Amino acid sequence: MKIKNWYSTGKPWVIAGPCSAETEEQLIQTVDGLVESGITTIRAGVWKPRTRPNSFEGVGEMAFPWIKKAKELYPHLQFAIEVASAEHVDLALKNDIDILWVGARTTVNPFNIQEIAEAVRGVDDIPVLVKNPINPDLALWVGALERFDAVGIQKLGAIHRGFSTYQESIYRNIPLWQIPIELKSRYPEILLINDPSHIAGKRDLLFEIAQKAMDLQYDGLIIESHRNPDEAWSDAAQQLTPLALKEMLNQLKIREKSFPNKDFRNELEGIRDQIDETDKELLEVLSRRLELVKKVGQYKKEKNVAIFQLERWNKILENRPLWGEKLFLDAQFVKSVYQSIHDESIRIQTEIYNEE
Ligand code: PEP
Ligand code: MN
Repeated sequence: MKIKNWYSTGKPWVIAGPCSAETEEQLIQTVDGLVESGITTIRAGVWKPRTRPNSFEGVGEMAFPWIKKAKELYPHLQFAIEVASAEHVDLALKNDIDILWVGARTTVNPFNIQEIAEAVRGVDDIPVLVKNPINPDLALWVGALERFDAVGIQKLGAIHRGFSTYQESIYRNIPLWQIPIELKSRYPEILLINDPSHIAGKRDLLFEIAQKAMDLQYDGLIIESHRNPDEAWSDAAQQLTPLALKEMLNQLKIREKSFPNKDFRNELEGIRDQIDETDKELLEVLSRRLELVKKVGQYKKEKNVAIFQLERWNKILENRPLWGEKLFLDAQFVKSVYQSIHDESIRIQTEIYNEE
């Protein structure tokens, strides 16, 4: 796959707009705000892939006249929508949509991607942005990009929106930065856009994710913005008002060089990123562990038994180092970690016993 560098304004490309187009009024008012905030590429979900049935699935074709109206009001605007079938592509092209993106649930399915790729064959001027698949599988992401490359799409881009995980996490979709980094190292010319909204799932994490993307020299951001986020029909917790978006963008430190070369990341930073992510997981596990301690503390208090149970503690000191050895962890190290955990457990339970 020979990817061309087709976007070179030197500034990060910001695509912003509501998760979903809901009503004409909501779309136009949101666009008014975004134009005021300096945004020139608007996103809007027309058809929404939802995890569960009976969620709001988008208004469908009804949104096209609203988009047309927004473009009449602001002729410089470009619109991006998600397409998930050949029919969506045909309707999007018929309605002068400027940019197409493929959602994370679509990228996982090569049949689906091929169908969409066939529908855009020959339309070589339209940008196609491919979101990462929901599962952390770089090959699937690359495969989808290859299918669009093979039908002649010249303006290809990748959107990093994070990955599903069964583990508990502060993120809605864990970023696993090493995956887009690997994509960018393999294809340095590819346009790489970060989607902090779907990674975060909530407003207060957006800034740190967007800043990290800028530090990693991503080429742009796609961010959900709604005139009244709390009232949004989908993804309410992660959307920002156009004004809050502008404030956030103003705070971002944009790095000088916007186009990365092959060594845009050095090895050390890459490994440190992985360490950071692993530590977050470690702390989440630790927090779960101590929640269970609270539960056991409550129970012991109810039954009026002593906090410290020697037999249990001896068992822990005996089998944890053995479990650890199977994972190539030093027994002495594991023992000392458990000493600290035990101290904290006793402290927490003492607090519970002291409550009235
Ligand atoms: C979206 O962009 O609103 C969306 C549905 O995203 P994703 O495909 O990343 O879940
Ligand atoms: Mn969304």
